[in-house]
This record gives sequence, C-alpha cells and structure tokens, in this order.
Amino acid sequence: MPTPEQVAEFLADAKAKGIKPGAGWRKVDLPPTLKCGCTASAVRPPDNTPSCPIHDCTEQVERPDLTDRVAICSNCGKMALSAFGLPFFEYRGPGSREATEMCRCGSLANAHTPEALAKAEASGYPRTCKEFRPNPKGRLTDSYYCGCCGWD
Ligand SMILES: [Zn+2]
Ligand SMILES: [Zn+2]
Ligand SMILES: [Zn+2]
Repeated sequence: MPTPEQVAEFLADAKAKGIKPGAGWRKVDLPPTLKCGCTASAVRPPDNTPSCPIHDCTEQVERPDLTDRVAICSNCGKMALSAFGLPFFEYRGPGSREATEMCRCGSLANAHTPEALAKAEASGYPRTCKEFRPNPKGRLTDSYYCGCCGWD
C-alpha cells in the first residue's frame, strides 16, 4: 500500500507530465458504473442486466468525479490516475461501497449485526469491532488491475 505522501507525489508527477487518466489503455464505450464502485463487467440473465459478479451488484449509479484520484493495482500496488476504463477499476471514494458499507475495521456492515456477532462468539473467534462505523470518505485510493499477472 502506498502512503498518502506517495499517492500525492504520483498525482503531482502525472499532472506535471500532462498525463491523462486512462492514458495507455484502450478507450471503449463504458458499461454503467454500479453502486459497488465497479464498472459493470458482466450481464445477468435472463434480461442482460449489467452487473458486477464480484460484489453481486446491479444497481446503477451516476459516475462519481475521479478528478485527482489515484488507483492502485490490487496485486502489485502500481499506481495510475483513476479512470473508469481501467481494468477491474473500483471506485472507493465518497458514496462508494467502501464508504457506505465498509466499517473502519475492514469488515462489511453485515458482520456487525447481533446475529453475526453471536455467531463469531460461538465459533471461538469473537469480533473485536462490535459497532459498525463507516468512513464517509471511503478510501484514499481506488483500485484496478494493471496486468502484472497476465490476463487469464
Ligand atoms: Zn463490484
Ligand atoms: Zn499490478
Ligand atoms: Zn467494524
């Protein structure tokens, strides 16, 4: 994970060089952006609803503003200017799934219900975080996949 300083440095450097978000990646007509923060990457039968299979999400939202946002490769940490056209791009800023459904402890909201807490307790691994506390700002960085492990 890059530090906030490294992210700021990357951003300043990209701006100084006049690099545009998404540069170097093929431009395509983008499918809709979904509530989970991903660009729809699959269609769901029977009516071909654009969906994200990773987060099981089909709710379409307006594309958030990506100005001055940086995405990091979820595998190797390589940074790029955030753009919806990046492979496996996931927006994680304000209003995203990370900001609304994710607790500061790193677990989803549904891990904090009384039932979930009781279940964890019974399994011998009680949860230390018992109260869901979302971070409205989401995360500093978005994520994508740069291709470092190949494409299949
Ligand atoms: Zn998703
Ligand atoms: Zn990578
Ligand atoms: Zn928590």
